[in-house]
Amino acid sequence: GSTIGILGGGQLGRMTALAAGNLGYRCHIYDPVPDGPASQVSAATTVGGWDDTAALSAFAAAVDVVTLEFENVPVSTLELLARDVPVRPGPLALQVAQHRVEEKRFARHCGLETAPFWGVTTLDELADGLSAVGVPAILKTCRFGYDGKGQVAVDMDTSLRAAWEELGSDDAILERRIAFTCEISAIVARGLDGGCRVFPLAMNEHRDGILRRSVAPAPVDPAVARAAEAAAVALAEALELVGLLAVEFFVTGDGEVLVNEIAPRPHNSGHWTQDGCATSQFEQFVRAVVGLPLGPVDALFETEMLNLIGDDVNDWPALIADPTAKLHLYGKAEARPGRKMGHVNRRLRPWPSDRPA
Ligand code: ATP
Ligand code: MG
Ligand code: MG
Repeated sequence: GSTIGILGGGQLGRMTALAAGNLGYRCHIYDPVPDGPASQVSAATTVGGWDDTAALSAFAAAVDVVTLEFENVPVSTLELLARDVPVRPGPLALQVAQHRVEEKRFARHCGLETAPFWGVTTLDELADGLSAVGVPAILKTCRFGYDGKGQVAVDMDTSLRAAWEELGSDDAILERRIAFTCEISAIVARGLDGGCRVFPLAMNEHRDGILRRSVAPAPVDPAVARAAEAAAVALAEALELVGLLAVEFFVTGDGEVLVNEIAPRPHNSGHWTQDGCATSQFEQFVRAVVGLPLGPVDALFETEMLNLIGDDVNDWPALIADPTAKLHLYGKAEARPGRKMGHVNRRLRPWPSDRPA
């Protein structure tokens, strides 16, 4: 088949559609919001709710395979589509990634470490959780959080009632706040035949809860890198996922690698691959979803990715004046504060560093 249906119409869908186009595929976007970043570059778009059965069945009939770029598509939507058309990744990966307690339990079930955590549905359970997890801690909503939204810090002197009311959700998780030395992420592609390829790791820095900068390959101990790569493969296999799985980790002072969260789709920390790797994460995603062989994942450059958040985007003329910089803008009209408007990849040096340019 040659038409890929993508659930969600944001920048991840846009860059997937552009990569798909280069491989000769068409993309059909399904999104409740009209004229998003992906719709602007795709062959066809359906605007409909996630429970619009008529629109969904017309969409299924128009495409050869369905994937997603938005992790909050209801699992029931995926199950409905899966009756008519292959859906990659399938409902299990989505269900686990949508809920922070499920995701941490799943990681533990796979033999991986996480921060200590406690599922919290009442104020009393928050008090229990604090005894179990210890301070400092972070209270998070289990669902729908992104860019650090839906999180409240809990310290020794925090009023639990105030924290609970501030969070305003009765489906929550309390996590020990980890004093990490760095954050890293792994993106693994798993093909239709079950074969996996892991991109070189990225090291990630956040500003106000939002990813600001990634650098790859991450400058971490080889043992740390191997542990993170093995964890990503173990999770992708256990989820029986076909597509991409991104896994975020905290690295502690003694070199422990703790799973923070997973996303069954391309990931912001993988954008560097567009300009620094033999295959971009978006091309790899397309290859996995349509059943093509996976591409090579060698880093070609040590690469820095800077997100353009809100008004940062106004600096783009200066950014493209830098000959090492590659600019990617998402076609969003309004530069609201905290909104991801684009990113720039800077090739810092050839990789490996002794390879001539
Ligand atoms: P994303 O935009 O990556 O999806 P998110 O809103 O889903 O983010 P997290 O990734 O859980 O939330 O948290 C955002 C950031 O907050 C983390 O990358 C990390 O810097 C910090 N953070 C979250 N949980 C913890 C923790 N348990 N200990 C220390 N720092 C944490
Ligand atoms: Mg997240
Ligand atoms: Mg995160």
